[in-house]
Amino acid sequence: MTMSPTRLLLIEDEPSIAENVVFALTTAHFQPVWCATGAAGLEAMGTGGFGLVILDIGLPDMSGFDVCRTIRAASRVPIIFLSARDEELDRVLGLELGADDYVTKPFSPRELVARVRAILRRSESIPASPPASTTGTGIAPTSFPENPPVSSASTASTLPDSAASPLIRHDTARKRVHCSGQPLDLTRHEYHLLLALLAHPGRVFSRDQLMDLAWEDPAASSDRTVDAHIKSLRAKLRAAAPGSDPIETRRGLGYALREEAVS
Ligand code: CA
Repeated sequence: MTMSPTRLLLIEDEPSIAENVVFALTTAHFQPVWCATGAAGLEAMGTGGFGLVILDIGLPDMSGFDVCRTIRAASRVPIIFLSARDEELDRVLGLELGADDYVTKPFSPRELVARVRAILRRSESIPASPPASTTGTGIAPTSFPENPPVSSASTASTLPDSAASPLIRHDTARKRVHCSGQPLDLTRHEYHLLLALLAHPGRVFSRDQLMDLAWEDPAASSDRTVDAHIKSLRAKLRAAAPGSDPIETRRGLGYALREEAVS
């Protein structure tokens, strides 16, 4: 998809896991750089040029959460957490810190590669928006050079600078979507589906495209999965804004978000 291999930063202290991940990423035509400590990872980040970061939470010198905070203060590079702890709390904390996804150990390197691909595709499909004063939060004085600049899904804001409040609004900092002013309690798939639609209001997405954009492992899913999640997503939108139907079904084509929902 990309012309030159995307450089990925892997921060993981367990050599056996790192070796497997590096092998899988290299086989998938990525260019991984492995660091075994948080400090080494942050130093590598300073050299720039990473399209995505894979970050272990349990590092010997500092917590992966702290590494994530430091990276996030200066960069929107997509981050995937590797977690040995399966507690929901950790996941929520990780995602609130601005991680784009997480993988729980033990994981298959193939699954990780699929998630890396999905996140990179999502980043590429979303046009980089100019830094808007309404969405910029906590910009640190330093910044990591990003080359090529890769915007994570969270950088896409469809919030127009108008006085009228749109029906659907994405709070990029908190990774929450509001409908009619109410925060939606979305599953990961629903959230990613909605983000894909929000990135291009009015554009019709086929089920395949939506699956590629919102699923970590599109091959393991079927068209019906997209339909089922769209259905539950619609129900939640309708619960927040009775009478509204912001997602349009285009028969034989797919789904689109009505432009008026975000304007
Ligand atoms: Ca570890």
